[in-house]
Amino acid sequence: MPRPSHRSSHRSRPALVATGLVTAACLGTLPFAPHAGAGPVDLAHGTLAAQDGWAASGSGTNGGHAADAPHDTTVSNRAELVKALGAGPSQAPRIIRVKGRIDLNTDDTGHPLTCADYAKDTGYSLTAYLKAYDPARWGRSKLPSGAQESARAAAQAKQAARVTLRVPSNTTVIGVPGTDAGINGGSLVVHKADNVIIRNLTFADTRDCFPQWDPTDGSEGNWNSAYDAVTLRGATHVWADHNTFTDSPHLDASNPRYFGREYQVHDGALDITNASDLVTVSYNRFADHDKTMLIGSSDNDTRLRVTLHHNLFQGIVQRAPLTRVGQVHLYNNHFDTTPRNGYTHQYSVNSRAHAQIVAQNNHWTLSLDRKASQILSGDGTGAFAGSGNMVNGTVTDLVAAYNTGNKKKIKPEVTWKPTLTKGLEPSAAGLPASLARTAGAGTLR
Ligand code: CA
Ligand code: CA
Repeated sequence: MPRPSHRSSHRSRPALVATGLVTAACLGTLPFAPHAGAGPVDLAHGTLAAQDGWAASGSGTNGGHAADAPHDTTVSNRAELVKALGAGPSQAPRIIRVKGRIDLNTDDTGHPLTCADYAKDTGYSLTAYLKAYDPARWGRSKLPSGAQESARAAAQAKQAARVTLRVPSNTTVIGVPGTDAGINGGSLVVHKADNVIIRNLTFADTRDCFPQWDPTDGSEGNWNSAYDAVTLRGATHVWADHNTFTDSPHLDASNPRYFGREYQVHDGALDITNASDLVTVSYNRFADHDKTMLIGSSDNDTRLRVTLHHNLFQGIVQRAPLTRVGQVHLYNNHFDTTPRNGYTHQYSVNSRAHAQIVAQNNHWTLSLDRKASQILSGDGTGAFAGSGNMVNGTVTDLVAAYNTGNKKKIKPEVTWKPTLTKGLEPSAAGLPASLARTAGAGTLR
């Protein structure tokens, strides 16, 4: 599919920089940076700086930077957001400024919708579902099927139609500073789209009303939910920056247990799967969540080149990230394993399915209940190379700590060398203090 014409000028920018014709500030994301002699650049027109992680590679990422006036809109409810995402030609550059919190569990007039509203007229009831698929009757060898599972799927589809929104190519979705901008209960899906920026938004409590029981998932079965706050599938050139992801106000501690397993209503915070590629995830705050970030959803996934830098992880149970296949660069992130709001750390980074992770100058604040050997995880095929990673202020060999106590070793060498490393700080020492101020939504002006 041809890209709009503005892309060609963007593509030539690195060459201009090399000849000194364009200043770094013009390319950068600093608010109010000078803009090629014109007036100040507002945050919504910000573009990913040159060299800023994998999303800077090739044609780079400028989202809706070139939007014309009809495609530069401010939205403050679901209906306006839906309209802005769908307005005009699908490839038209667009800037969507989110003002305040938008609740996606609402009808077209803005009325809140409850789980019961979605279940209405489907025949679904949790009581009947639990009765039908109780392992004592249904067994543990096959997925639920039949009337109650069909009803659950029908109810789930009704919720999905409200809370799942596709983001098209050449789009910037950005929170208006000072408005606590964000999306409650929703899922932004970047599917087979290119050149997308998502910034300065709080994604709160993306929650599935209708988890599915899978008795074959793991040794005891699991309740699985459908929505990530942000999902990238077959997406390229995506920059997720200065967002906050949190389960609050519905914390997992309030989830009941059925069939002896947690009735998990949350899925991923930011999942990057299905051959997504060239993604930069910077200055986000991930808090109070279990399955935080998948990079690759199966061992046969492809591409998956992702950079994570200057992100803050607090109250995260696992998958920060779980990485398969791809070339992933982690630098200058801060992981705090301190138990928080009922969330307890299991591991931070999982390298599996031949993943090639390079980790430089990250900081782990390791609480007394955790050991350095519990920071990594893997399946015996993944790699994790790196240097300068600190645990409580001391540079620590995380692979050695992990491999000492585990049979499935993590490989300490990778097959590639990161070059898109803008802002890489040579020491992780100051990150806990600096990222407390600079990561997450609401810190951009
Ligand atoms: Ca899932
Ligand atoms: Ca997911």
